[in-house]
Amino acid sequence: MTPWQHLLTDAMTTPADLPPSLRPDLTGLQDIMGHYPMRVNPYYLNLIREKNDPIWRQAVPQLAEHADTVCHLDGLGEERLSPVPTIVHKYRDRALFLVANQCAMYCRFCTRKRKVGTPEMMVNDQAIQAGIDYIKGHPEIRDVLISGGDPLLLTDERLEWILAAIRAIPSVEIIRLGTRVPCTLPARITADLCTMLSRYHPLYINTHFNHPWEITAESSRACGMLANAGIPLGCQTVLLRGVNDNIETMLELMRGLLRIRVKPYYLFQGDLSLGTNHFRTSIEKGQEIMRGLLGRISGMGIPTYAVDGPDGKIPLTPNYIESLTETLTFTNYEGKTCFYENGDTKG
Ligand SMILES: *Cc1c(COP(=O)(O)O)cnc(C)c1O
Ligand code: SF4
Repeated sequence: MTPWQHLLTDAMTTPADLPPSLRPDLTGLQDIMGHYPMRVNPYYLNLIREKNDPIWRQAVPQLAEHADTVCHLDGLGEERLSPVPTIVHKYRDRALFLVANQCAMYCRFCTRKRKVGTPEMMVNDQAIQAGIDYIKGHPEIRDVLISGGDPLLLTDERLEWILAAIRAIPSVEIIRLGTRVPCTLPARITADLCTMLSRYHPLYINTHFNHPWEITAESSRACGMLANAGIPLGCQTVLLRGVNDNIETMLELMRGLLRIRVKPYYLFQGDLSLGTNHFRTSIEKGQEIMRGLLGRISGMGIPTYAVDGPDGKIPLTPNYIESLTETLTFTNYEGKTCFYENGDTKG
């Protein structure tokens, strides 16, 4: 077993395993565990400073997961866009390929909470082959997003089998890996993994950090190694109540990501996935945070704030335009009203 596999074996899988000071009220929680598994590996556990803090909230089950009467089982409407069980084909030129059912930590707010870590998402060789064949049969797919679960929980050999098969399809231009491992299990990023990944360029990685405390010496090392392997790194942060729903935290997170060579890509409004409603904020809150970022951090550090849903991703960028005729009237980052002469609208 590799060192990172040991960290997973040592993970806590029920709230009763947690040190007493970090244990939630256990009443009723066992029932939740039957639906939504828990996995807090020793690395991520170490980032928790106290009960109810922003790291704890992401990792430890709470009764609120069962009190959700607002969200739906398949909030993104993925099942009906799934021609084979491992593929979600929503946009013509891109396909989402779900190759793994496990994660290094089961985020309590996960969009695919209904599936990840459960037997419902078993991904065997045959299911992966069906996905590869689907991509081969659809040459309009230029961009393959490998996700799960977390694809970096596969062994190097298994992941390379998938990458090589996709790279052999001439119509595929770019490959993207979606993985939270640089944040939740940085020991998984090894020199061997980086060497293997660098054989399949152009390859991009979108990782997922939600709080500045997740930026550590270890996660910084992991991202540096991936970047040195020539892999551009992006981050898909989720806006979470009680975790990062304020300007100062978000600003610190975005600055930290740029320092570890990760470009903020999306800031997602919470999805309508069953069991996650207690994490959702209002859209006004997200827009207030976006306004707070503008002018205080370089454009390099500003993600696209978006909501994802059955109809696709829709940007929720705050509106700076007051009116647009022959003249554009708008508000700048300081709240000052400004003007710009429009180009010729007849031409
Ligand atoms: C998010 C998503 C994509 C990728 O969208 P980008 O904006 O290109 O990052 C592709 N397919 C599905 C089903 C998605 O949910
Ligand atoms: S790493 Fe991603 S897929 Fe896995 S539990 Fe967290 S949000 Fe869900």
